[in-house]
Amino acid sequence: MLKEGKSRSSRTVVDGTESQSSARQLRSSKRARQATVSSSLHHTPRTVLSWLIDNNVVLPRAKVQYRVKKDGRPMAEGQITRAGIKCKCCQKVYGISNFEVHAGSSYHRPSANIFLEDGRSLLDCQLQMKEKSIVRNTRKRSPLLKKHSHLGTNDNVCSVCHYGGELLLCDECPSSFHTGCLGMKEVPDGEWFCPSCCCEMCGESRFDKNKDHFTESSLLICCQCEHKYHARCVRDKGLQKLDCYPVGKWFCNKRCEQICLGIHQLLAKPVMVGIDNLTWTLLKYVKPDDFDSDAAKDEFVLETYSKLDVALDVMHECFEPVEEPYTRRDLMEDVIFNRWSELNRLNFQGFYTVLLERNDEVITVATVRIYGEKVAEVPLVATRFQYRRLGMCCILMNELEKKLMELGVERLVLPAAPAVLNTWTTSFGFTMVKESQKLNFLNYTFLDFQGTVMCQKLLQNIPPEVSSESTGM
Ligand SMILES: [Zn+2]
Ligand SMILES: [Zn+2]
Ligand SMILES: [Zn+2]
Ligand SMILES: [Zn+2]
Ligand SMILES: [Zn+2]
Ligand SMILES: [Zn+2]
Repeated sequence: MLKEGKSRSSRTVVDGTESQSSARQLRSSKRARQATVSSSLHHTPRTVLSWLIDNNVVLPRAKVQYRVKKDGRPMAEGQITRAGIKCKCCQKVYGISNFEVHAGSSYHRPSANIFLEDGRSLLDCQLQMKEKSIVRNTRKRSPLLKKHSHLGTNDNVCSVCHYGGELLLCDECPSSFHTGCLGMKEVPDGEWFCPSCCCEMCGESRFDKNKDHFTESSLLICCQCEHKYHARCVRDKGLQKLDCYPVGKWFCNKRCEQICLGIHQLLAKPVMVGIDNLTWTLLKYVKPDDFDSDAAKDEFVLETYSKLDVALDVMHECFEPVEEPYTRRDLMEDVIFNRWSELNRLNFQGFYTVLLERNDEVITVATVRIYGEKVAEVPLVATRFQYRRLGMCCILMNELEKKLMELGVERLVLPAAPAVLNTWTTSFGFTMVKESQKLNFLNYTFLDFQGTVMCQKLLQNIPPEVSSESTGM
């Protein structure tokens, strides 16, 4: 916080008496309740193929051939159904990967090698789908932008406890807090900035955001933990010599860099887990600006995009719609497709999506964000209705925890809905985060929802003296 400076909404406190009920409604629409309705759609598999059918890009009953080249000899023939490809020779239904295996190929490129009669490969169809959704997204955005008249207002509930009342508003981002929830006794004078908007080292918030020239006060944001730093604070610590803006990704320390490298090694590499062909895969959206003319990369980008859109369908199927109260956008879409914001509270760029699949069919989806070595969060986990109570979530979480441990992440946090709190604390080994412990997490903008209880699990054996020292994280 700064003593000088023009006071914008400084010292402003929202009186909760009448705004509280509307605030409650606002946040309760954010609450991720598990939907109870189930339609017939919920019992059919969700795969990239079913997604293409649902979006009318391929027709059910269309004939397909597996060919290594467009004009090559057909190695297998079949017909498209919502459940998979029905083979002409044996009448069995296969997922696209297994259809490729059944055709006797080990290329591991089923989408590129399965062709429709009209000459399109399934990969071409995925490209059509992606182009279609770009049109969809640009249309969807325009009416939303008009509603942005409320931009510049802060949350009506505290970011820590989710209740209203007298709140201290951040002058940079939409977050609001009770002074008590920040461990502060008084309302500070002048402008005030929340912990996620301040320099991680000196706690000050004034940054020189001019990208053209590099100064002592230039803003540096760690690519992994998303913490902010002044150029001078990084230099003064003597860790890095900086005399200009770093080119490419910047990391605040070696551990953040190692974690980033480590996760990128895991991307889009299915791991066999549990039994019955279950696979665990970590994915991350690749932004269109990262596109280049490399065909192999384009294929990777497309396959990732398609899987993530199927994952989003699963999220929508399992949770009530969640609208970010500030941007009024679909929160799940922004998380899975990594919408960026300069404000940490609204920046979803750090999220990865984990899929648990069997024979190309998506069973469980989770979203994870790793804030360097200190902590990772898993705010959304969704298992499709017909696969609940079969231990699928457990298989996904076990593998995720294993990977996080290997990366050296110390703890995992998640917002537990009351109905499943007991499961997290008994079967999964999580414990509820005490109010006093929440002070340790103020500089992290975890994604959580009103009515949920924050739980944590330690992933490393941290010696007691180290853990007491690290409470200022
Ligand atoms: Zn066959
Ligand atoms: Zn509070
Ligand atoms: Zn802030
Ligand atoms: Zn600083
Ligand atoms: Zn970092
Ligand atoms: Zn990275």
